[in-house]
Amino acid sequence: MTEIAKDRSMEIQKEMLADHYRRLEDAPKSGEPVVYTFVPGNLNELVRSFDALPVFPEINALQSAMRGKSAGYIATAEKAGHSEDVCSYVKCDVGMARSGNVGPTGTRLPRPDLLLLSYTGCYTFMKWFELLREEYDCPVVFVQVPYQGDGSITPGHRAYVARQIRETVIPALERLTGKPYDEGRLRESLARSARAEEDLVAVFESAMRRPSPIDAYFGAVYYVGPIFSAFRGTEEGAEYYRTLREEVEERARQGLGPSTPSGVLTRQKYRLVVEGPPNWTHFRDFWKLFSDEGAVVVASTYSKVGGTYDFGFRHDMEDPLGTLADYCGGCYTNIDLPGRVRMLADYVERYSADGFVIHSVKSCNSFSAGQLTILREVEKRTGVPGAFFESDLVDPRYFSPANLKNRLESYLQMIEARRGAAAR
Ligand code: SF4
Repeated sequence: MTEIAKDRSMEIQKEMLADHYRRLEDAPKSGEPVVYTFVPGNLNELVRSFDALPVFPEINALQSAMRGKSAGYIATAEKAGHSEDVCSYVKCDVGMARSGNVGPTGTRLPRPDLLLLSYTGCYTFMKWFELLREEYDCPVVFVQVPYQGDGSITPGHRAYVARQIRETVIPALERLTGKPYDEGRLRESLARSARAEEDLVAVFESAMRRPSPIDAYFGAVYYVGPIFSAFRGTEEGAEYYRTLREEVEERARQGLGPSTPSGVLTRQKYRLVVEGPPNWTHFRDFWKLFSDEGAVVVASTYSKVGGTYDFGFRHDMEDPLGTLADYCGGCYTNIDLPGRVRMLADYVERYSADGFVIHSVKSCNSFSAGQLTILREVEKRTGVPGAFFESDLVDPRYFSPANLKNRLESYLQMIEARRGAAAR
């Protein structure tokens, strides 16, 4: 596997993650309650205001894949009867649970005391927790977040979600932890979230510069790690984003590009926008295909799965439950196809991209359905050609490096040819 130079923020994040997993391993002894929940539409600030520890099954799956463990877990789940067509995140998680529930960093994960199903957009999340409920026989709380079927969050949607949080989630957390709801504590946490979100947006928007000091897809996977998971709303999360922003601003001042598997990518020949989640089993090799060609990603939709902050949303301490409802409704997986087309076209234009790539993953219907239509629409609106690549999230059987390399090379040659034609 190709290694990349580690930025200081990456080292900090690694420590944060390791600490969190150690705390989770100790939870049966320390008595800290454990809540399993999902990334898009999570209520992390609320969960942590009750001193409960969150576990994110998708994060475990992708981290397991990056460490080469997902193939075995998927095989275990398939032997237990899960079809090849089931989302590979789910199979990876089920396989991990049936193999002793040892998390990606090698520490054992505790059983959930509560399954908090506050997903957005994808029905698979519900089936996933049905499986975990059978596995662990523990209580489940379901928050239904209405899909943005007509492209917006209506006041009715907002009130509906806020009511569920007030009437169902908070009482369940009170029962679980034996603590009363502390709105003051939640407000403080939301204020820290907003600070971190402000810093993260500054990091994303630095990609408008030439050269871009960040890679907004592969590199962004590291940038969004804490805010997508256990650290949104925490002191250490806010501190991480302050450090990250300083690091990126310093790189921009020096006119440097991001650290990539091909070294510091300052000479950037192609600026791309990417739609769809990455492949995790060959993450660095996948990234290297791009960085070897001098291609930097300047904006991506995957980095908005845990919140569309660059379109203005910030958690608002003045309206704790309303803001949590808005957050849930606004995650990328909750946005309809026209909204996704608008977002991609906006990125292509605002970030002056040479092209856009759709990485379509076999596992994820939520992301992949409609992507060919998205491709055609974004091409039509921007006049910029798109490319369509296919592999998977955490199932290594669907990653074909030679095929992806060929496609990427042909695509970049096409961009080159168009440049030549435009210059004549
Ligand atoms: S299908 Fe996609 S959105 Fe749904 S759980 Fe799997 S990876 Fe997540």
